[in-house]
Amino acid sequence: MKHLLHNPAYKMACDQFDAVAQFLNIPENMRERVKAPKRMVTVSIPVRLDSGEVKVFEGHRVQHHLTLGPTKGGLRYHQSVELGEVAALAMWMSWKCALADLPYGGAKGGVAIDPHKFSMGELERITRRYTSEMIPFIGPQTDVMAPDMGTNEQTMAWMMDTYSHQIGHAVPSIVTGKPVSIGGSLGRKEATGRGVAFLANRASDMLKLPDDSRVIVQGFGNVGSYAATGMAKFGAKIVGVSDVSGGIYNPKGFDFQALEDHVARTGSVKGFSGGEKMSNEELLIQPCEILIPAAMDRVITDKNAGKIQCRILAEGANGPTTVEADAILRQRPEIFVIPDILCNSGGVIVSYFEWVQDLQSFFWAETEIFDKLYRILGRTLDTVLKESRKHNIDHRTAALSLGIQKVVNGKAIRGLFP
Ligand code: NAD
Repeated sequence: MKHLLHNPAYKMACDQFDAVAQFLNIPENMRERVKAPKRMVTVSIPVRLDSGEVKVFEGHRVQHHLTLGPTKGGLRYHQSVELGEVAALAMWMSWKCALADLPYGGAKGGVAIDPHKFSMGELERITRRYTSEMIPFIGPQTDVMAPDMGTNEQTMAWMMDTYSHQIGHAVPSIVTGKPVSIGGSLGRKEATGRGVAFLANRASDMLKLPDDSRVIVQGFGNVGSYAATGMAKFGAKIVGVSDVSGGIYNPKGFDFQALEDHVARTGSVKGFSGGEKMSNEELLIQPCEILIPAAMDRVITDKNAGKIQCRILAEGANGPTTVEADAILRQRPEIFVIPDILCNSGGVIVSYFEWVQDLQSFFWAETEIFDKLYRILGRTLDTVLKESRKHNIDHRTAALSLGIQKVVNGKAIRGLFP
C-alpha cells in the first residue's frame, strides 16, 4: 500500500510494524500479509444541508485483517480524516485487540468533516447516509463500529437504526458504544478513560509516586475527561487540561468540580478561570508526574520529547508519540510509557463485552463489567512489562510485538487460501 505512505500516521504505523517485524524475525513472505490492510472502502456521501444545498462528503472504512474474527474499530468525524490516517488507526486497532486477546481484527472509519460546524439534523443525515453506503461491508460478524473523535452514543444510535431498518429487525450488535436503553453496555462510555486512569494509577504505585501526583490531560473529551475524573478519584491533582480551544494550567491543582461544572455548562475548558491560559504545545511540557495525551495523534515529537517533564506517559489517544520521539524517550528511562494499544484498550474491551451481551441478549451489572475490565488490563500490563524485561525492550515494542505475533500465528495456522 505504498500510495498511503504519504500520510504521516500511516508511515508511522508502518515504521513501527517494520521495526517489530525485524525484532520478531517474521518471515519476509508473511510481513506484507500482516501489514497491508485487507479492505479499504471510500464512499461519497451526498447530504442535503439545512440551507437546502446538497454537499458531498468523503467517508472511509478500513478493515485491517479478518483472521481472528470480525473487525472492530471506531468512527471518527474530523476535518483531517483521510484514507491513510484511517488505515493507520485500523492497523493499531489490530494490535490492540490481539494484545487484549479479543477475537477481532482492527478497523477504523472516518468522515472528513468538522462536526461542530453542522446541526444535529445534518449530522444525523451524514451518519445515516454513511451507514447505508457501508451496509454491504459491515455486520455483527463482519465489522462492528464504535465512537471515536467527534462521534458519540447518538451517532451509534443512528447507525444502529439505519442498519436495523435495512435488515428488518433491531440489530444492536452492529455497533458498540450506543446508549444503554437500546442495548449499549453499562460502563462503555467511561471505559476508555477509566481504563487509562486505572493503568496510570497502577504504574504510579509501581513507581511509588505520591497519591496526590500532578496530572496533565491534553483533550478533555470522552477519554480525557473520564481519565481526569478517574485520576482525581484516586487522589491525584489535576494541574493542566486542554481541548481544541487551548489549555489551562494551575500548578496547585484545579478545583476539579468547578472545572467539570464549567465544561458541562459551556462544552469546553475555554474561559475556565481556575488557572493560567496556555497553548496545547506549552501544556505538554509543564512539570507533572502523569501526562495523558487524549486528543490527536503525533503530538509528542522529536521537538518536545526531550522537554516533557512527567514520570508516566499514559497514552489515552491513538498514536500520540512519533517514532522519532520514541527514540528520544528510550534515552529517558525515568519516563514510564504506557503505550496507546494498552493504555486506551479499555474502550475496545468493554465494546467487546457490549457485543457479547448483545449477541446473547443477556446484560451484565456495572460492577461485573469493571471487575472484568480491570482484570484484563492488569494482566495485560503485567504481560507487557514481563516481555519488556525479558528482552530488554521498551514497553511499546513489547506491547506491539505481543499483538503482532498473535496475528502472525493466526495467519500461519490458518494457511493461505487457495
Ligand atoms: P472526543 O471527540 O470526545 O474528544 C477529543 C478532545 O480532543 C476534545 O476535547 C477536543 O476539543 C480535543 N481536540 C481536538 N483537536 C485537538 C487539538 N488539535 N489539540 C488539542 N485538543 C484537541 O474524542 P475521544 O473519543 O475522547 O478520543 C480522543 C482520543 O482517544 C483519540 O485519539 C481517539 O482515537 C482515542 N480513543 C478513543 C476511544 C473512545 O472510546 N472514545 C478509545 C480508544 C482511543
